[in-house]
Parts: sequence; C-alpha cells; structure tokens
Amino acid sequence: MQRTAEKTPLARPADLFTPGRVRPKMRRSRAGRSAAPAASVVVAGRTLLRGRLTPIEVGIDDDGWIVSVARSTAGARRVDFGEGVIVPAATDLHVHFREPGGDAESIATGTVEAALGGIAAVGEMPNTVPVIDRVDRLEEKAARVRGRAAVDVLLYGTPTGRADLGDLAGAVGAMKVFMSPTSGIERVPGPRELPAWLEALRPYDLPITVHAEEPTEFRDGPPATDPSGWDSSRPPRAERAALARLGAASPYLRLHIAHVTLAESVAALRADGRSFEATPHHLLLSDRSGRDARFKVNPPLRPERERAALWAAFARGEVPCLASDHAPHSAAAKEGPFDTAPSGMPGVETMVPLMLARVRAAELSLEVLQRSACDRPARWFGQPLGRIAPGHRASFMVVDFRRRTRVDGRRLHAPCGWSAFDGHEAIFPRELWRNGVPIARDGEFIGRRDGTVVAPEFSAAARRRAGRPDLSS
Ligand SMILES: [Zn+2]
Repeated sequence: MQRTAEKTPLARPADLFTPGRVRPKMRRSRAGRSAAPAASVVVAGRTLLRGRLTPIEVGIDDDGWIVSVARSTAGARRVDFGEGVIVPAATDLHVHFREPGGDAESIATGTVEAALGGIAAVGEMPNTVPVIDRVDRLEEKAARVRGRAAVDVLLYGTPTGRADLGDLAGAVGAMKVFMSPTSGIERVPGPRELPAWLEALRPYDLPITVHAEEPTEFRDGPPATDPSGWDSSRPPRAERAALARLGAASPYLRLHIAHVTLAESVAALRADGRSFEATPHHLLLSDRSGRDARFKVNPPLRPERERAALWAAFARGEVPCLASDHAPHSAAAKEGPFDTAPSGMPGVETMVPLMLARVRAAELSLEVLQRSACDRPARWFGQPLGRIAPGHRASFMVVDFRRRTRVDGRRLHAPCGWSAFDGHEAIFPRELWRNGVPIARDGEFIGRRDGTVVAPEFSAAARRRAGRPDLSS
C-alpha cells in the first residue's frame, strides 16, 4: 500500500519518503501452511528463468506486488502478452534532470522519458542551481517530485564543505561526491579533505557515488576542438589517479564509482569489491563517433580500442551497473564552439532500448543486461525492483524483439531534441508497467504522475520512518 497523500512543505526530513516496502501479507490456508495471496491481475508472457526464455504467468495483487510466478495462475483479470518478453523494469542510478535551475530538462519531462525507456526508478543528481547541500533545498526539490514525476525518484545530496552534512545525510537517498568541478560544483575536496568527507558520511550507511576524475592530471594546453582533443585533455590517467586515491577509503563505505571508461578500471574495482557503473555512451561511442560538441562529455569518450575493451568487459558481465548519466543541454548550447560548449548528453530514454538491440544482435546476453540495468542498480538503491519474483514490485517492461527501430533525437521526448545515438539501432519496450499498472504503451506515457521520492530501505531516513533505531546517532 503506497501512501501518496503527503503534506507540503514538509516538517521533518523523515517525511520526505514514502514508507518502506510493504510486503504482501501471507494468508493461512486451511491446512495451516502459508499460501500466496490471491492475484487480482495475471500477466502472461515469456521471461528469463534460469537462463532460458520460459512461458510464465505472473500474479499481481491489488497493491502492485508480484505474489506468484508460475506456469499457470488463477486470477480475476488476465493480460496475455503472448510471445512478448517480460523484462524487469530498469533502475537508472544517474540522471541530471536539471531541476531546479535548468531549462533543457525537468523532473516532469525526464521521468516520462525514463518510463518510455523501460525505467521505473531514477537517481537524480544534486548539482543543480542551487546545489542540493542542505535539507531545506532537498525538501524544495522533493516537493517538485510530488504530483509531477512519472516514475520513482531517489534524490542525491552532495557535501560542499559549507552546510551541515549530518542533517542532509540523514534525509537524502544517496550522496554524490565530485572529485573534479562540474556544472554547479566549483569546490571539490583536496587530497587531504577527501578522506575526511567520506569518513563523515560513513555513519549514515548511504550509497555514495563518486565522480572519479583527478583534476591535477588534466592536461593544460590549447583548448580541445573535438572529442579526441577532449580525451587528451582529460586523459585515462585522471581516472586511474582518482581510483588510486579512493583505494584508501574504508571498505565499509558503500562506494560506487560513476561512469567508468576503462577496462583496467573494471578489473581494479572488481578486485576492490566496489560497485560501479558504465554508460551507454562510453560502451557504444568512441572519440571518433562524431566531431561536434554533442559528443563532448565527462569523462571523455575514449579511443576505439578502450571502448571495445570496456564493451567486452560489460558483455562478460563484469560491470555491475549500467547507468545513463543523462545530462541534456540545449541544442543551442551544443552548437557553439567545442571548447566552450557544456559537457553531457541525454540518454535516459535510449539506455535500455540501445542495449535491447545489442541483445537482439547477439552481442549481449539478456541475462547480463537484466543484471546490470535492472537487478543490481535496484539493490544498490535498496528498492524492491529489478526481478520478476514474489516480494518485488510488479514493475516490468514488455519487449517485442522484432520491433527494431533507429534512434532519431528529434523524435525522442527530451526537450533538448537531439541525441548522440542518432542512427543507432534500438528496441523500445512495447509497454512499461509500474506497481501493477501500465504507464507507457507504444511510445506514449499513459500513467499517472504518482512517482514518489524513495530512499534505500537501509538508509537512516527509511529506518526512522519505519520506527527502527537510527544507527547514525
Ligand atoms: Zn553525471
């Protein structure tokens, strides 16, 4: 049961979040054994079970939870997708919806793009204007989610060294630490400060995403005029040096490294047992994919050799999370000279469709895609999503692998109206269901704006809400 009626503005940080997961009640059968609660809707199709696409029926209760997965299921209403493949809804750990303060995107538009791209929950980054480094700013941002978001939104905060970290860390869903300056973030922790900033966050047990580029390794010289020049100016050694600095961080931190670009980073982070992500653009585009500023992004697109090695590691299942780093800028801003154009590109709507096309082309297994786009990111955010299994939200997409198309940025739903993936093959989901209800169908959003602000069920905010002791104090 989801509680959606919330007061605005909010009195206490704990009120920012909807209650933790409410699992379906198990009923006692006459024999005294637990029986699954009755499904009010049964969805039939094929899903991946033990590595095979298997015909299956998914029972969903009134509150939008999966209560059974079986060969056949009794239920009041039946929706049959035939040969359609039921894939868990994805979770995108990394989006910039630029709200407040931006004009190329909003929470209202970005969450619809997510839904059309098969995503039921997003992690919204804090480098907005103003930056989310205080509880009052977090509350203001949470108010922008309610009644406007098409999917669930987890809000990141960020330490800036200015504001009271404790209040913020007790209220956010996750933290973001920038090691190099970016849009909205000028002050980053120096070598001595970084360990202290991370250590201060440790008691809160939050997911902490790090933008790991070491700015002292950026190269001075003439301004870059194309993506290859941009790669030379923010070279792989900046990623290497940042990861070396993070190597000293406590193993008890929930550290996650954003947008890894090198196969050697994949190997190093796996050895350290850290979570991390790769983006579709670093997996599918190289520094030669295009010469204009649409292809300018941080960290930069790498040469083909590095891209191919990162893709190979991803396809082997060695990259735990796929994330879009959706960061749109207006077409006008990107049409300017390369060296002064802003970094970042849109990607939340195309992330899953691009990868489904790679599955169709037999370059990627559906199993690896489901793990990296659906299961692992949901677990990292402490959300009951990402699996077609009882006890999880009935949030899933329906995929018809015959429906291939090509990306055309003008026909996507981001206000910026462009994509660096123009011409790439994509398979958009036929439908997306969220909490047992279809919210997107054939490229149209048909749901309600009832996305909520969520936090990991292990976080201080969620613990407080559930009446459990606050371990951080
Ligand atoms: Zn980002």
